[in-house]
Amino acid sequence: MSTLSELAIGFVGLGNMGGPMAANLARGHGALRVYDQAGTASRAPDGSVVCESVAGLSAQVDTVSMCLPDGRAGLSVAREILAAPRSRVRTVADHSTVGIAAAESLHRCFADGGIEYVDAPVSGGTAGAAKATISVMYAGSAATLERLRPVFATMSKHVFHIGETPGQGQAMKLVNNFLSGVAMAATSEAVAFGVGRGVSMRTILDVLNVSTGRNTATSDKFPNRILTETYDAGFTSTLLAKDLELYEQALANDGAANPVSATVVDLWRQLDAAEGPADFTRIYPFVRDRRYRKA
Ligand code: NAD
Repeated sequence: MSTLSELAIGFVGLGNMGGPMAANLARGHGALRVYDQAGTASRAPDGSVVCESVAGLSAQVDTVSMCLPDGRAGLSVAREILAAPRSRVRTVADHSTVGIAAAESLHRCFADGGIEYVDAPVSGGTAGAAKATISVMYAGSAATLERLRPVFATMSKHVFHIGETPGQGQAMKLVNNFLSGVAMAATSEAVAFGVGRGVSMRTILDVLNVSTGRNTATSDKFPNRILTETYDAGFTSTLLAKDLELYEQALANDGAANPVSATVVDLWRQLDAAEGPADFTRIYPFVRDRRYRKA
């Protein structure tokens, strides 16, 4: 296993999730290079080195971590890395949720340029990113995992080697986010039902969290973001709708049944269309106020 100081590392995408992940990496690594197209200086974590462009970053690092909104942004950054005149990049670890097909095409695109691409999407939310408790779902070779382990260790206590094939990390991430999206949607409907019968939300959550209805919505999002009416999970309806559409698309490609996902994906799409990139915890008032259209 290499040590962190042996790697020259860059991080692209310093948003809600990438920002705190890069901050943890910068704490463990003296000279993390960073870049974000929306403005790097204001997003750069303490101790990191601001780069003016992806090309500039690529000239200074051998390993790039990225946390970008979707596959389209991933492909755009891939083109910039591959076109960078003095690029030293040999490995790209992608923490974005891009779906299986985009991970496969990013892998091919980087491989053509002699760069190894591994998909390593993450889960645990912005709070987990800040506390370095997120999970990492890595797909790629065991040898590269050993080389990247010190990087991942600064961001996560839960690194899983899902498989050797690019896209398998994404498959695992879609499994997770589908269940997370179902839990939020179903819990919103159930809690609204209970509140409508005069039971307080606090009581409903206290009961559920020691009973069989417990899930991540009842244990985390509802008590910490919805009961408080802060709606501040830092994950947008746009990104969750994207994840669920990627899941739906992958099911369709397999010709698999989708009795649950068809309903749930439609609900999240409707929230996103109604409220734009709202915090995804806004699903509760959206369902409670019956603002959705029945299919
Ligand atoms: P975000 O929109 O807050 O951040 C994305 C960042 O990428 C932005 O700062 C944007 O300026 C930057 N960016 C976009 N295109 C770029 C480009 N071409 N070059 C350089 N920078 C570019 O999104 P986020 O919430 O941080 O999510 C990032 C990824 O992580 C997504 O794929 C999301 O699905 C996944 N994710 C998010 C969460 C969460 O709780 N927010 C949890 C797990 C996984």
